[in-house]
Amino acid sequence: MNKTFGLPDAIYRYLLSESLREPEILHKLREETAKDPMARMQIAPEQGQFMALLVQLICAKKCIEIGVFTGYSSLCVALALPFDGKIIACDVSKDWTQIARRYWQEAGVVQKIDLRLAPALKTLDALLAENQAGTFDFAFIDADKENYLAYYECCLKLLRRGGLIAIDNTLWSGRVAEPDNHETETVALREFNSKLHHDQRITLSLLPIADGLTLALKL
Ligand code: CA
Repeated sequence: MNKTFGLPDAIYRYLLSESLREPEILHKLREETAKDPMARMQIAPEQGQFMALLVQLICAKKCIEIGVFTGYSSLCVALALPFDGKIIACDVSKDWTQIARRYWQEAGVVQKIDLRLAPALKTLDALLAENQAGTFDFAFIDADKENYLAYYECCLKLLRRGGLIAIDNTLWSGRVAEPDNHETETVALREFNSKLHHDQRITLSLLPIADGLTLALKL
């Protein structure tokens, strides 16, 4: 299935066949998740590989993920982290994260991942209250779209200068560009994109990879 929105199928197949280096464990997780009716919530494999590259590029050690689902993105990041790297993984679903945990274990990275089963804003507030602002290298936001701005503001505080936030689904299958679409999530993403466009605290890039991936580098 073509996960990079707008790319012709033949080119997408070429891109995967000539550049995807998906470890067997990630492939297995993708196959298991495909059986779930919510499988579309999983990030694209080429996006996972790209995020792993970003993590290596900025020499990240301390990461936060908002929205774990069955663990594909956290596993990509965990595999790219050094042995003493850490991810705080936020989600509210026990069922989905049980699948994630099984794969983290099998991949030998479970010790790098600190799963927090709670509304993410509570976890983020707790981290800020523990004086962890300015200590994170990388954040990935991929959860309920209505809270994106709130997640972003907390992550920006938690990040060090030069730290990177990646935000998923910012093109929302193109719905953000349809003026007549007033669905709650579309409106939230449109406002989010507009806010970041004018945010002078970051360097910005919105990439048309998968369903749109925004990168915000903290200045
Ligand atoms: Ca997503």
